[in-house]
Amino acid sequence: MVIASYFVFDYEQDDPVTQALINTLYPAYMVNKRLMQTDLTEIPIFIFNDRSSLAKYMKSSFTPWAFAQGGRDGMYFCLQSPNGTPVSNTSEAYFRGSVSHELNHVILQRAMGKVRLPSWFVEGLAEVTSNLLLRENRERSNYNLALSLAVGAIIPPKLLENNKSFYQITENTVKEREKAAQVGLRAITVDPYAQSTNMARYLLSNIPPDGLPDFLNMVRDQRNFKTAFEEYFNATLSEFYDSWLHEAKTNLSSGNYTTN
Ligand SMILES: [Zn+2]
Repeated sequence: MVIASYFVFDYEQDDPVTQALINTLYPAYMVNKRLMQTDLTEIPIFIFNDRSSLAKYMKSSFTPWAFAQGGRDGMYFCLQSPNGTPVSNTSEAYFRGSVSHELNHVILQRAMGKVRLPSWFVEGLAEVTSNLLLRENRERSNYNLALSLAVGAIIPPKLLENNKSFYQITENTVKEREKAAQVGLRAITVDPYAQSTNMARYLLSNIPPDGLPDFLNMVRDQRNFKTAFEEYFNATLSEFYDSWLHEAKTNLSSGNYTTN
């Protein structure tokens, strides 16, 4: 199978970072295919050298902490981080994990059309693929959530349903961490991505292997996540949130975060 033919590239410079991005797309596609059980349709990949060329061509703006973004139109990368440093300076795990994460956004958005999905589900599912790609990402995510749980820094899951509050909480978390890092400390905060990842993984653990497409089809057909969820799982979302929290506390507080 020649995967590369499914991606259509548009980049400004053929340098090692561009090549590293392109080389990550294949393994990222494989983990996404495994989870989503979907065949890839053509996906345009745009890679920009710096923030100014990105700004010139992108209609919507990037989230301020990200160098990559995926939507139904394709994947957009910028080789310059929002703070001006080259993306090559970010960790390998973050770099590669972002490719898989954004690719999942493309696949999910294309599969679900305009059906509104809870942000924890969208971001969590994307992170699950990044965690499947690299064990290091999975361990860090579990470790971060274990720290948050230990200090009771859990976000009421309902607040993670809505896109606006999800990103608001994320921006606050990023700021808090940066502030602590400036004085050499590590802030233990709520972690919307780690929490969403764990919630998505818990949801997947309640679906038979290979059963995700059935659930997604149901959501798409009913055009409503909540009612499809209730029908599929025979439980309400708030019951799901309660049982997720119970399970997370049991697993992560026992130090089980590296294996789960
Ligand atoms: Zn995302």
